[in-house]
Amino acid sequence: MIVADQKPIEEILEILAPYKRVLFLGCQSCVAVCMAGGEKEVGLLAAAVRLARAKSGAPIEIAEGAAKRQCDDEFNEPFGPVIQQQEAVLSLACGVGVNKLAERFAIPILPALNTRFFGKVERQGIWKEVCAGCGDCILHLTGGICPIARCAKNLLNGPCGGVRADGTCEVKRDWPCAWVQIIQRLEELGQLERLLSTRMAAKDWSSDRHGGPRRRVREDMLLEA
Ligand code: SF4
Ligand code: SF4
Repeated sequence: MIVADQKPIEEILEILAPYKRVLFLGCQSCVAVCMAGGEKEVGLLAAAVRLARAKSGAPIEIAEGAAKRQCDDEFNEPFGPVIQQQEAVLSLACGVGVNKLAERFAIPILPALNTRFFGKVERQGIWKEVCAGCGDCILHLTGGICPIARCAKNLLNGPCGGVRADGTCEVKRDWPCAWVQIIQRLEELGQLERLLSTRMAAKDWSSDRHGGPRRRVREDMLLEA
């Protein structure tokens, strides 16, 4: 899922400063699961902002809502009538949701979150990055553990010389070395030999962010123009 954090309240208040009538629109997907931008967070943030603005003598009128998936027009459309009555929308979705609303509605769409990464829940309250969306997955070679997202140096052919004796990373000291984990996992799967006998070719990064903005086209899904 996409993991995001709510911006500090001071920053949100600054972003909202020019506006007096705003819709706070959450998203009930990833950001609700990581407790940054779901329906509950919309209510809590709206209450905090109303209070802060009233105290500062600049009250604000806030409407509240949460789309099922803000990255999809279909789920934003029902909020169209209420959006038309606002000066701005504060989006509590990931950056995709903010972009999507900005394309569709001709009023300022403001971000309430900092979008962080594609991650998994480690345990209650902790999420870890596990995929960097490189566009050319190699997890079948690495035991399902991603060296691009989980190795601090994105190494593709084994650990660097800095891995520490306790198996932690020399860069992210409180993280396990991704390559130690990959080797352990392949040993468990009886596939270590396969890794040792293959040298991973230099990665073609053109499918990653380094190749510029990306687009996916499924010819079989296209409707005739
Ligand atoms: S190899 Fe690429 S697509 Fe696969 S998990 Fe890693 S970053 Fe994501
Ligand atoms: S110690 Fe391991 S995870 Fe850290 S940079 Fe080196 S190879 Fe990557």
